[in-house]
Amino acid sequence: MLKTAKSLLLATLFSVSTLATAAEPFTLAPLPYAADALAPVIDKATMQIHHGKHHQAYVNNLNGQVATFPDLAQLPLEAIMSRMSRYNDAVRNNAGGHYNHQLFWQIMAPAGQGGEPSTELQKAIERDFGSLVALQNAFNQAAATRFGSGWAWLILDENNKLVVTSTANQDNPLMDVVDVQGTPILALDVWEHAYYLQYQNKRGDYATAWWKLVNWQKVNELHRSALN
Ligand code: MN
Repeated sequence: MLKTAKSLLLATLFSVSTLATAAEPFTLAPLPYAADALAPVIDKATMQIHHGKHHQAYVNNLNGQVATFPDLAQLPLEAIMSRMSRYNDAVRNNAGGHYNHQLFWQIMAPAGQGGEPSTELQKAIERDFGSLVALQNAFNQAAATRFGSGWAWLILDENNKLVVTSTANQDNPLMDVVDVQGTPILALDVWEHAYYLQYQNKRGDYATAWWKLVNWQKVNELHRSALN
């Protein structure tokens, strides 16, 4: 009798845990470097809270929407973005938050380890902005003028032109609900949670220092794969 009850309990636990896994298709990948690897530009505590608390919350909240929108579990994140108008604000905020932060961790590297723009990307930057410095100025301006919380972006548009833009909240240029659309190749989080511990209200200082962390090797790869 006891043995049967125990088997039943184990079977129940097993099926509950299987269900829980199926309902939580989104997971938080570890940072691709140590939490203190980006210091002194971004301090360890900011990275730990930003990744472990904020990004984790977007993942958890997105998993919480799968029961309402089962197709979320079947689609790549990019595909979810391109049909965002079909979903609610919770999906928009949390799928956006998950995509944006996954990209953000990847396009940064410890200072001195990110390499340089490829010849191909450098030529495209000169064609569309005049110089890398001019691109950086336009990008930092987008970061500075985004009111409240949001992101600054470098995207490749449908004509293979590089464009600087910004979005509010956790929106991104892959979403069908934003004005300026394209494929992100570089992104800067300008939410206060990304910089406030170290930079307080000085978003401009954060944006300027942040260029030391750009992982050009990853940006080059994203640029190449976005070309059509
Ligand atoms: Mn963030």
